[in-house]
Amino acid sequence: MSSIVQRLSDLLAVPWATRPFAPVMRGRASILVLHRLADPDRGIVGLDPRVLRRALEFLRRERYPVVSLERIFRGLAGEEPPLDRAVAFTLDDGTIDQADVAAPIFAEFDYPATIFVITDFLDGKSWCWWHRVEYMFESTRRRQFSVQLGGDELAYHLDEAGARPRLARHFMERCKRVSEAEKLQGVERLAAAAEVELPERPPARYAPMSWDALRAWEARGITFGPHSLTHPVLSRTDDAQSEREIAGSWARLSAEASRPVPIFCYPNGHTGRDFGPREVSTLRQLGLRGAVTNWPHNWVSAGGFRSSPDAPFAVPRIDFGADHRGFVHSVSGVWRTKHMVRTHIEMSRAELALAAQEARRQGPPSSARAGSGAV
Ligand SMILES: [Zn+2]
Repeated sequence: MSSIVQRLSDLLAVPWATRPFAPVMRGRASILVLHRLADPDRGIVGLDPRVLRRALEFLRRERYPVVSLERIFRGLAGEEPPLDRAVAFTLDDGTIDQADVAAPIFAEFDYPATIFVITDFLDGKSWCWWHRVEYMFESTRRRQFSVQLGGDELAYHLDEAGARPRLARHFMERCKRVSEAEKLQGVERLAAAAEVELPERPPARYAPMSWDALRAWEARGITFGPHSLTHPVLSRTDDAQSEREIAGSWARLSAEASRPVPIFCYPNGHTGRDFGPREVSTLRQLGLRGAVTNWPHNWVSAGGFRSSPDAPFAVPRIDFGADHRGFVHSVSGVWRTKHMVRTHIEMSRAELALAAQEARRQGPPSSARAGSGAV
């Protein structure tokens, strides 16, 4: 980024400088999504808690309505007055840092947040599959190995500095593109190829929060929603598993929580790729009122929410990001303004290109043609 753009960008994170952008957030809400919070004692790498605290201070000082996810849904559905530039926080998966690091910060500000939990993970039945992959790439003593995944032979060379996290991510992304059964086979083959014995229970940095912690936080304004049993990409599962993952996690959460949030969070959650009408139909049958996605990142509006009967089952969220500036830009309307300007420029360019194409198709004006013919 050039220094002028960088300085302008920094300036637009200063509270008063963001105020003129408020009109572009009229009738829109930001549903933010967070994952892990840094917890050095457990070796957890994630968002610096100071960044979260600073974000909440900004929202308080600038008087943003920070409300629960359910309040956003009710406003969008017209059951309660709509809120301008409302912000709701969601956290995915139910890891231990979300209870021990994030929840106390929300409680400190008396702000609500919704944590979507993987119920088999909280039940201690398994640890998250991508954590297992990360652990294996980190702890293997092999310098190189190859793994079969969905018919492909993937070769990994771990010698290069910083290669392990990158290669682990590569393997995870490949896992998301094969069937659930192939993914599980692939993770098992990885353990054999990397010669890593996985502990039955996750190490401290990959631990879930407990159901007791969940109930304790419920009493202090944090709510909990279902996020499947084992976090498969639902579109990669068969009919029976897709239904079991949704219904099972809702049943377990309902048995443990006193006020479960009837809004599902799709694992991985890319709209148009990771879930479809089959999942929406299951959610409807269970009486859930909607679902949130992970992609595309977008601000939700009443118009979008009411655009089709299925729209409440694919409500977009915004990634919290890694720094304060990005956060301020996303909730204040700076990013949306940038996005609108960029779209406008792209449309103008496309219109100009079309006009030029049309002009070429029609050939030169008739007078020019007459002139050239005369030469
Ligand atoms: Zn998740």
